[in-house]
Amino acid sequence: MVQITEVKNGIAANRISTHSHIKSLGLLEDGSAPALNPASNPSSGLIGQNQAREACGLVLDMVRSKKMAGKALLFAGGPGTGKTALALALSQELGNKIPFVPIVGSEVYSSEVGKAEVLKEHLRRAIGLRIKETKEVYEGEVTELTPEEAENPLGGYGKTIAHVIVGLKTAKGTKQLKLDPSIYESIQKERVDVGDVIYIEANTGAVKRVGRSDAYATEFDLEAEEYVPVPKGDVHKKKEIVQDVTLHDLDTANARPQGGQDIMSMMSQLMKPRKTEITDKLRQEINKVVNKYIEQGVAELVPGVLFIDEVHMLDIECFTYLNRALESTISPIVIFATNRGMCEIKGADGITAPHGIPLDLLDRTLIIRTLPYTLPEIRQIVRLRARIEGLSISEGALDVLARKGVETSVRYAVGLLTPASIMARIGGREEIGEEDVGQCDGLFLDAKRSTGVVQQTPGKFLA
Ligand code: ATP
Repeated sequence: MVQITEVKNGIAANRISTHSHIKSLGLLEDGSAPALNPASNPSSGLIGQNQAREACGLVLDMVRSKKMAGKALLFAGGPGTGKTALALALSQELGNKIPFVPIVGSEVYSSEVGKAEVLKEHLRRAIGLRIKETKEVYEGEVTELTPEEAENPLGGYGKTIAHVIVGLKTAKGTKQLKLDPSIYESIQKERVDVGDVIYIEANTGAVKRVGRSDAYATEFDLEAEEYVPVPKGDVHKKKEIVQDVTLHDLDTANARPQGGQDIMSMMSQLMKPRKTEITDKLRQEINKVVNKYIEQGVAELVPGVLFIDEVHMLDIECFTYLNRALESTISPIVIFATNRGMCEIKGADGITAPHGIPLDLLDRTLIIRTLPYTLPEIRQIVRLRARIEGLSISEGALDVLARKGVETSVRYAVGLLTPASIMARIGGREEIGEEDVGQCDGLFLDAKRSTGVVQQTPGKFLA
């Protein structure tokens, strides 16, 4: 029987990649957002939505001065008004290794796991831990076999490779290292090859590939008699190793310990007896160890961002849980988003509230409005996305897409870029033209037109 052991969070990665051009809030020194300049691409990646951006700047100050504790943020605005883009920009302002965890409210409903459990897991995904360790390492570039060694391999791929490692070329010349056989596995796991720059931990023998020697940046020529030595590091030195993990990574590593010598595996061996699933008890034990590391100055907590889109899909139980979670000393920054005004709170017997959020939670929430984009803003967003996706597009086609964006949504306009580029390619054109956009628009329906078709032809679709 095939067992599914882990489902990678690909959806979250896709959600972020459509926003890959967003780098920061792009605010000026005085905290204001710059006026739209259609002639230039903003380095922050964000366009328009100036009031919301300025408000985010204030929130950023609050986070930095630890005044957001116990509070949440809510973006309220129509679909496709940049709520996700703003949340991502805010998290990027906090640092580039900050976890950003986007979910949609409805994701908490699963037939296997309770709602609070899903929320708990995502909250822990959004809390990072930066672990700093100083280790004694041998660092250097992996050298080629000497002719004698090449003629007399020790047998077995791992051993031959390990033998290659014996020659570590460093600033102080080549050092022969006597390595424990247990390191073969590490070497194979890291796929170390000649020309790689690696370090080997003195105590544990753990091998880490840290890059490629410049001399081998191009394809390695096995026949080469000579190569330029690239001094990288020292034979024996202390190195500060920084590892970024999330609390959820630690939970998983400890629930399914696999052994090994890297920091994650070592952290996973701290807890005994070994568990097979993530329980509250396991989480508490992990928190204890984490707190100890923080006290010792070995680790630092890095609160990230949990972004819950369509927050009105959560029910009263979820809100109660979140209310409590926000009070915790280790809470990430929680950002909600919704396009609903007054609506029913799910599971609360018909009680309505603004955005479907109970008033006690709303009380501790800062609300930022996002407004529909103007035509020049949409034009610039589409232009930026085309550049990021490596597509060239005519000014006329941009105009058509911008108008489409006003009629429908930015998302629809941006979404037409890829099919239009395929149309252009089929037609033998390098640049997306107005005709390509027009043809694609005829082939696909935007949400409004699709709704219209469904309403005009009842009975043709399953209810
Ligand atoms: P919402 O979360 O409000 O539904 P969103 O942030 O998901 O909106 P989309 O409608 O998905 O935005 O946006 C389509 C594309 O336009 C995405 O690539 C997004 O990054 C980009 N985009 C949206 N708003 C902005 C903005 N203000 N500046 C730059 N790019 C933006």
